[in-house]
Amino acid sequence: MDEDMWLHPATQRNLGVLRGFGNLILEVAMGELASGLFGPGRMLEPEQILAAIEAKLLGKQLLAGKKVLVTAGPTYESIDPVRFIGNHSSGKMGIAIAKACSDAGADVTLVLGPTAVQVPPSVMVVRVQSAQEMYDAAISAFATCHLAVMAAAVADYRPASVAQEKIKKAGETLTLHLVKTPDILKACGVFKKADQILMGFALETNNEAENALKKLHEKNADFIVLNSLANADAGFGTDTNKVTIFGKSEPPTDLPLMQKAAVAEHLVQMVARRFIDLKNVQF
Ligand code: C5P
Repeated sequence: MDEDMWLHPATQRNLGVLRGFGNLILEVAMGELASGLFGPGRMLEPEQILAAIEAKLLGKQLLAGKKVLVTAGPTYESIDPVRFIGNHSSGKMGIAIAKACSDAGADVTLVLGPTAVQVPPSVMVVRVQSAQEMYDAAISAFATCHLAVMAAAVADYRPASVAQEKIKKAGETLTLHLVKTPDILKACGVFKKADQILMGFALETNNEAENALKKLHEKNADFIVLNSLANADAGFGTDTNKVTIFGKSEPPTDLPLMQKAAVAEHLVQMVARRFIDLKNVQF
């Protein structure tokens, strides 16, 4: 169908009703439409439809044979032997993605910052503390992976030096000198080969869409998943999330508030479709 028809509230509302009955909806593809316009509305490639049917009806695994790297959780940047700079990330979204990829047959390495959240046994976990440790572990796994999902909340700055002894309480103020940490997603964007898929996350408090799109291009990612902090049930520590997915060549996809596991499954299906697209492209 044409873009206007696909995006029409009547079509979208009816699709919502069908989803509500538990039907799996295979979304339309982007590209040239019968009208000659470019946009969402094309039928998916038959191979993509077949893969989705096989996955649903035959339990065939969408990411079988794929190697996946996921980063998740916060990082702790030491100030002295007892204190650190950290953040409120629980790692739940990244762990849900690692599980969904593993359930879809992928060989998953999860580079995980400090969190008490349980990880399923099918996922290979590399535990790290600092942004530098996360960078080292992620970069070494990135070279051989087909898909990398950077869902970690990495500290942007760390103390320039770590005090050997606990810093004593002294004057009314204390100044810490901070230096930048390496940007893991950006580095992967530089090393990325044409057949690798790179996905990042963004958490913004203002100009959300604009900043997510900027990140997509600056970090050479294929997708940026924007987390909304505007919704009380989305974000840090919750089991649900409300995301919008930005891709390079398609309009953003707004997902409703969903369980993090359901968001992860949606991302797996989207990535599986992209792998089929990549297979059809000659590099
Ligand atoms: O630039 P910003 O930190 O907002 O970008 C967020 C995205 O970049 C997330 O995917 C996050 O995991 C990734 N990131 C990273 N290394 C950093 C900072 C952010 O991989 N040092």
